[in-house]
Amino acid sequence: MIMILKRLAIFLLMNALVFTLTYSLYYSYNKIKHKELEEYIRVNLYHIFDNLELVSSFYANAETVTLDCGLHYINNVGVYTPKKGDVKALSKGVDSLSKNLKDLIGDELWSLGIIDNNKSKTNTIYFSPLRVTHIQIFLNSDFDFFNHILNTEKLPSTYEESLEYGLFRQTEAYKESFNHQYVRSIYYPIYIDRKLQALLLLDVKSSLYQAWTENFNDKQFTVFTTEKPVNSELLNKIALPYTKNDHLSVYINNDLLWKYSLLFSLILTLVIGYISNSLNFVINLYQKDNMTQCIRRDIIEPKLRKKMLNHQAILMVDIDRFKSINDNYGHDYGDQVITTVAEILKDNIRKADKCIRWGGEEFMLILNIKDAQVVKNKAEQLRSAIEQQSALDMKITASIGVAIAEQNCFSQVLERADMALYHAKNNGRNQVVFL
Ligand code: GH3
Ligand code: MG
Ligand code: MG
Repeated sequence: MIMILKRLAIFLLMNALVFTLTYSLYYSYNKIKHKELEEYIRVNLYHIFDNLELVSSFYANAETVTLDCGLHYINNVGVYTPKKGDVKALSKGVDSLSKNLKDLIGDELWSLGIIDNNKSKTNTIYFSPLRVTHIQIFLNSDFDFFNHILNTEKLPSTYEESLEYGLFRQTEAYKESFNHQYVRSIYYPIYIDRKLQALLLLDVKSSLYQAWTENFNDKQFTVFTTEKPVNSELLNKIALPYTKNDHLSVYINNDLLWKYSLLFSLILTLVIGYISNSLNFVINLYQKDNMTQCIRRDIIEPKLRKKMLNHQAILMVDIDRFKSINDNYGHDYGDQVITTVAEILKDNIRKADKCIRWGGEEFMLILNIKDAQVVKNKAEQLRSAIEQQSALDMKITASIGVAIAEQNCFSQVLERADMALYHAKNNGRNQVVFL
C-alpha cells in the first residue's frame, strides 16, 4: 500500500514538473507564432483581392448576348435582367471566379455578385450561388441596387476618387437582413475607361477569420482564436485592410492551452515511466542468475569491493553436505535443492536487502539491519525455515555465518562472515555463528 502511494506521489510530482515545463514552452511557442497568423490572414485576404481584380479584364472583354427579361440560370450563375435586351455575358467568368474563391474561402463564401450599371433605374445582376432569397428580392423589386450600395458604402464614384482611397471596401460584420446571416461584404467597383461600369460584391460569413485561424491552428499546433473565449488573453489586433479602422482581435485560448499541455504531460510522464520500468526490467534480468533469480556475483562483487557497508549485516548461507545430495540423488535434484533454498531466502528478506548467489550452493545476504540481536534472530529464522521446508521430499539444512558492519569496508566484513561460516561448519553444521 505504501509502495503504491509512493509511486503515485512520484508520478504526480513528475507530471506536475513536466506540465509546468510543457505549459510554459507551449505558451511561448504560441506567443512567437501569432505574428505568423497575422501574416497568414493577410496573405489569404490579398489572394482574395488579387482574384477579384481579375474581374475588370473579363468584364471589359465580355461579349454581349440578348436575354429576355427575368431570371436566368446560366453556367451555375443566376442572371437577372429587368428588361429584354443586350447584356454582358459574364456568367462563365463569375462561375470560375466563384470556384477560385471557394478554394480560398471554402464554406465561408456566402455570395458573389456583379451588378451591372446600365444607367437605367434597374440593373442586370449576376450572382453565385443562386439563393432563394436572392430570387425573392430581385424578382419583387425594381430597386436600384447599384446606386444604393454606392451611396451607403460611400464608394468612390469616379476613377480619380478611387485612386485616392483605394478600390476595395470591406465592411464590418453585420447581419444580412434577408437571410439573417452574419457576413462581411467586400466591394470592388469596376472601371472601364475611367468610368464606373459595374460593382462586384462578395459576401463572406463573418466566421471566415475564425475559420482561417482554426486552419492555422491545425497546421501549426497553436491555440489561437478570434472569438473571445472566457479564459483568454488578448495577443494581437490585426488591422483589416480596406476597412474604416476595423481590427481583428487574436486571443490565446487558455482553456485549450491547459488542456493540451496537461494531456501532453500525462502522456509524456506515462511514456517516461514505461521506458524507465522497461529499462529496469532489462537491467534486472541481466543482473540476475538464471537458475535462482538471485543477483549474480560477477556483476555485483566489483562494486561491493569498492564500497563501505554502513549499519548492514552480511550473512553467508551454505547448504550442508550438498555434495552428497548431488551424489545420491543426481545433479538435477541438486539444482532443485539450490532453487528451493534461494526461494526461502528471497521470501524472507526485504526488497531493499540483497540476495546474491555467491557460489554453487552458497548465498550471500546483505541486510539493512544494524541491531545485532535482530540480525541474529533473522539468521536463525532463515536457518529454521530451510530446515522446515516442505517443498522437497527430504530434509536439508544450511549453516550461516553472520558479520555486522558499523562502518567498514565490504572486504573486511566478508572475511568475518566467511570465518563465522567456517566455524558453523566445524561446530557441526545447521547452525548460525555470529562474529
Ligand atoms: P559442506 O557442508 O561443507 O558445505 O559440504 P558440501 O558438500 O556442501 O560442500 P562443497 O562446497 O564441497 O560442495 C558443493 C558442491 O556443490 C560441489 C559442486 O559440485 C556442487 N555444485 C556447485 N554448483 C552446483 C549447481 O549449480 N548445481 C548442482 N546440482 N550442484 C552444484
Ligand atoms: Mg555446502
Ligand atoms: Mg559451499
